[in-house]
Amino acid sequence: MGLYEGIKDVAKVIQQADNVELYKQLIDLSAQALDMQNEISRLSVENAEFKKLKDIENRIERHSEPFVTLRDEPIQILYCAHCWDYEKKLIQVKSYDSGGFKCTHCENNGIYDSAKYEADIQKTRASFQSLKKNRNSW
Ligand SMILES: [Zn+2]
Repeated sequence: MGLYEGIKDVAKVIQQADNVELYKQLIDLSAQALDMQNEISRLSVENAEFKKLKDIENRIERHSEPFVTLRDEPIQILYCAHCWDYEKKLIQVKSYDSGGFKCTHCENNGIYDSAKYEADIQKTRASFQSLKKNRNSW
């Protein structure tokens, strides 16, 4: 029997006994019981959210640059460490071929692959040198 049905059954018995004071007490207790039931529902939702957050927290892997990844994720996705630390939100960062990354939410940025980053710098330097050489030959 649910709470609501139980209250209705007791109310019927009290009405038959014609006891106004007892009926008022039942109304007060019913209101309290319903408030408690609402509070339990709210706390259950809150608890589920905390459990979900705790599960993510246990899977977070830190890196020397300000991004995080999740352990056991089939495809490794880079998330913003700042957004995670500050708002507990997993915001996927934009990864560039240059080896750098940037969070589209908070603009946090860094390097996710230093080998790619160095190679990109070398490539840029080489094209700059080539431009200089071409300009000098005009
Ligand atoms: Zn961010």
